[in-house]
Amino acid sequence: MTRQVQPGEKIVTRYRIVIKGVVQGVGFRPFVYHLAQVWGINGSVLNSSRGVVIEAEGEENNIAGFLSELKNNPPQLSRISDYQLSKMPPAGYTSFVILPSNSGEEKEALVPPDVATCADCAKEIINRQDRHYQYPFTNCTNCGPRFTIINEVPYDRPKTSMASFSMCDQCAREYHDPADRRFHAQPTACPVCGPHVEMLDSSGKNVAGKENWLQSCWDILRAGNILALKGLGGYHLTCDAKNKEAVKALRRRKGRDAKPFAVMCRDLETVQKYCVAGEKEKELLISPLAPIVILKKHLPAKPDKALPEELAPGLKTLGVMLPYTPLHLLLFSGPFDVLVMTSGNYSNLPLVKDNSRATVELGGIADYFLQHNREIVNRCDDSLVRVIDGEPHIYRRSRGYVPHPVLVSRREDEPVILGIGGEMKNNFCLLKKNRAFMSQYIGEIDSLEGEENLLTSFFNMQKLTDATPEIVAYDAHPEYASARVARRIPARAYFAVQHHHAHLASCLAENGLENEEVIGAVLDGTGYGTDGRLWGFEILTGNYDHFQRRFHLAYVPLPGGEAAIRRPWRAAAAYLLAFLGEEGRKYAGMIFPGKNLDVIEKMVISGFNSPLSSGCGRLFDAVSAILGICLENTYEGQAAVELGEAVPETADKDFQPYPYEIIEGVIRPDKMLAEILNEKMAGVPVQSISARFHRTLVSMVGEAVGRVSAATGIKKVALSGGTWQNQYLFRTAKEFLSARGFKVLYHRQVPANDGGIALGQAMIAHWRCRKKCV
Ligand SMILES: [Zn+2]
Ligand SMILES: [Zn+2]
Ligand SMILES: [Zn+2]
Repeated sequence: MTRQVQPGEKIVTRYRIVIKGVVQGVGFRPFVYHLAQVWGINGSVLNSSRGVVIEAEGEENNIAGFLSELKNNPPQLSRISDYQLSKMPPAGYTSFVILPSNSGEEKEALVPPDVATCADCAKEIINRQDRHYQYPFTNCTNCGPRFTIINEVPYDRPKTSMASFSMCDQCAREYHDPADRRFHAQPTACPVCGPHVEMLDSSGKNVAGKENWLQSCWDILRAGNILALKGLGGYHLTCDAKNKEAVKALRRRKGRDAKPFAVMCRDLETVQKYCVAGEKEKELLISPLAPIVILKKHLPAKPDKALPEELAPGLKTLGVMLPYTPLHLLLFSGPFDVLVMTSGNYSNLPLVKDNSRATVELGGIADYFLQHNREIVNRCDDSLVRVIDGEPHIYRRSRGYVPHPVLVSRREDEPVILGIGGEMKNNFCLLKKNRAFMSQYIGEIDSLEGEENLLTSFFNMQKLTDATPEIVAYDAHPEYASARVARRIPARAYFAVQHHHAHLASCLAENGLENEEVIGAVLDGTGYGTDGRLWGFEILTGNYDHFQRRFHLAYVPLPGGEAAIRRPWRAAAAYLLAFLGEEGRKYAGMIFPGKNLDVIEKMVISGFNSPLSSGCGRLFDAVSAILGICLENTYEGQAAVELGEAVPETADKDFQPYPYEIIEGVIRPDKMLAEILNEKMAGVPVQSISARFHRTLVSMVGEAVGRVSAATGIKKVALSGGTWQNQYLFRTAKEFLSARGFKVLYHRQVPANDGGIALGQAMIAHWRCRKKCV
């Protein structure tokens, strides 16, 4: 029989609350502790590998207030993905305590990404009275390194690379005081007890230490030197961005001809001196994610505010970020307001992260090395974002975003699947329950170092997510290193996935779609087709389970294969020869004097070493070369990027598409090429030709999509593939299709380029396995 409550007696209730999501390393426990004090709640809070577990006991009204605050006002950096509440009989707790972490069986707690330095810490490091004055490793519960220093979960200091530094009395006091903003800040440190920096010259000799490193940095940079700077997720190579000679030297030594360098600016005000930043762009720049944001430069530059053209040759845009560690902030407290901040690696090799490798691998590039003794566990490049129509599109998803999962439509009890990703711009994806853990940027994997980087990063991520894949999916290209790496990972089944199907599925997944049939307009450079040819301008229908090729760009032989990809003039010559015959031969001779066209012609005719390609990237290459914009690609996609940038700001509907034909599922560019040549010969400006070319592609996609829709009744279109990073093309196509009643799906959480295909691979493998298992 239940006891009657007496008048005036308070009803005490007790709840157990389990909160999952990003709740560790974000100040969750101190937040809960405070809340308990405010509402007079007794009980406990602890970090377990399942998430945060709270025992809360108190008077009913107080409990209600406590729970509502907990759910509705959690710490800024946390993300609650699951919230379970169970009522329990009162236990008679007399106080509220924070219990030590316990590591249970299943690790579901999510590791937080790295967080840019918060305003409070930023103030301390420039305050002479503060004990963190000029200390480059200052952090607190709201900011600092996370993913890059974690070895294992749950996220606690002994599981991080801060384990080797024991806290001084003062740091320990703050760490243990629930009222302090460093309460349980795992990487907390100060000049007395924490890591420190040192400056080495190229012979490895120490030239400055913790007292004078900052002045030494400024002197070194002022003298035009290149500095290798150990940061959060790896090394940066830095130099004075206004010193043209230093920028040129960096290009030369890094083996990087024209690929744009990112810069770091002192603050938003400085950014706006050089570039145009809208509200959304500013928001991203100052956010805790602190990615590189692609911005338009002021053209023409403001008086006295021109940056050297060498930073991003031939481009109207510049990749810009703000300081995101105390070390950066201190660097900008001196004479510089813009510094080049490019990844510390040589050519296509992985980002350097270890002191011992830096002097070896960056020895030929940097004059000095600013390094420190806090180990980087997980390598992590800067993320890269561009805002289009007020929405951020991620071109490289890494620091700040990883390892936050992308949520997809999937049951809890399905097996763990690994999508190994593509060959270039690689990211892999671990699919566990309804969470897709996209890895940090791995980059190129067609070298021994690249392959090792992929494997090591995979094993680390596997540990952090406690996700051991049963199934591994990889790209169907028979010569890809990624396929070989995939097979080195033990699993019960392996699936080869067609490249463009993976793009399509990736777009469906990040938009949260079930296994629904949509039209896919997949435009990219190269992917291995089911007919053994190189696809890349594909209008498909499909879902996770299957796909069908409906329309594609006409094939063109690529003389020399890879060589033609590196040299757009070869693609141009092939297009002219293949589609315009004699006339094309004549023009090719005029446009590309001195090139050995006879050899190209023989290869095109005989097909010798000339794989057939329907890649959209190759069509961009060809038009870019015909217009004289770019004849040789010194980085992937250069010709296409430069052609995209040639479209005038004011390009609108006045630019009509060129004629083209669609015959039996094949989109033929013959007439467009002939018109482009005519206009070029007639002296029409390249800006106008480029705009018309882009509108032609939109028409081609639009018409093909319209035909597929008329035949199938499908009204959803997924835009995927690296070509959609061309913002003019993307905006125009989206507008065109939306105006015709299509629901347009596109990428915002994972890259449209090959950095997103791992997600598609995993989702496809999931559906195939499900079908087989039924
Ligand atoms: Zn802070
Ligand atoms: Zn200390
Ligand atoms: Zn692709």
